[in-house]
Amino acid sequence: MRPIRPGDRGPAVTEIRAVLTGLDLLAAPGDEFDAATERAVRAFQQSRGLSADGRVGAETWRALDAARWRLGARTLYHAVPDPLIGEDVRSLQERLLEMGYDVGGADAVYGVRTSRAVAQFQREVGLKPDGSCGPYTMGALRRLGRKVVGGRPQWLRESDAIRQSGPTLVGRTVVIDPGHGGTDPGVVVPDGTLRWTEADLVHDLASRLEGRLAAAGVRVQLTRGPAPRTCLPDIDRAELANSLGADVFISLHTDGHANPAADGVATYHYGTDNGVTSATGERLAGLVQREIVARTGLRDCRTHAKAWDLLRLTRMPAVRVEVGYLTSPQDRARLVDPRFRDRIVEALVAAVQRMFFPVERDVPTGSIDVSALRAVVAAGAARD
Ligand SMILES: [Zn+2]
Repeated sequence: MRPIRPGDRGPAVTEIRAVLTGLDLLAAPGDEFDAATERAVRAFQQSRGLSADGRVGAETWRALDAARWRLGARTLYHAVPDPLIGEDVRSLQERLLEMGYDVGGADAVYGVRTSRAVAQFQREVGLKPDGSCGPYTMGALRRLGRKVVGGRPQWLRESDAIRQSGPTLVGRTVVIDPGHGGTDPGVVVPDGTLRWTEADLVHDLASRLEGRLAAAGVRVQLTRGPAPRTCLPDIDRAELANSLGADVFISLHTDGHANPAADGVATYHYGTDNGVTSATGERLAGLVQREIVARTGLRDCRTHAKAWDLLRLTRMPAVRVEVGYLTSPQDRARLVDPRFRDRIVEALVAAVQRMFFPVERDVPTGSIDVSALRAVVAAGAARD
């Protein structure tokens, strides 16, 4: 759909203004997308980790639609085939997570795991365990919720599961997501007679990474080929990784900016402004970022928490790496060199390997010789 933008009028603008007013971001409802509405949209986008462009495209629309629901305003239950989605579901999930119930993740979707967690909670407080959240269950949550806030048992369990599965890469599933593709080339830079596109460069990186990981005994799946006809939405990319039961998800992008002086690498993991974060996603992001900076010398633009669909809906440790600015002549000159891309790939392999080392056995950044991984795999196979 065409984004709704400043200057627009009509029923869609009325809806947007009503939600923003309900969130106290806008003084009054109305039917014109004026300057105050644009400011409110930007503030809303910032609070949700969306790119703050002040326009309402599909992603912002979904977030606004979900935001109108406050916990307790409606009864929540597991609906099939169209599950309930909303900010109220996310609040419920965050509360259950804090209390140590396994809802999978705070993805704002009332799925079967959320329903099961609610039923378990109901059983423990003596309510009928029907898995739906109405006024009685809400009352029990309000009474008990406050006592157990503070810990993050679910996130700790998540990292325990990874630790206990051992340090080997053999048999792991890694989904690599080359960004964009098809009708969406991503960042495009004409460079003399050459035309570099983000979609092509990240697909090249993805297939190099696929080769290195496969050699280390990892099952690898790419979310797209080199020249897909259409561009797969992020929701479908996340769904693919979930359906494959991936252990790790890595989305590859390059950045772009109007200012050619902008350069460097940044890594993103799931998290919200109220401090909810995926501990394992944060750890993977830190490893990826540090290994790339150490092995390539790209400027360190740090790791950041974002609530993007891709990071929110994936159930495994997931990161998105923006590995250099295609619009920076300096970064671009390095990115177009295949030997430099191999160094990026080595950094990613080292980060994935360290993800499966127990924290106390972790090694210094830049120290893993990824060419030796194949020998380790062969030795392991001989022992078995
Ligand atoms: Zn991109």
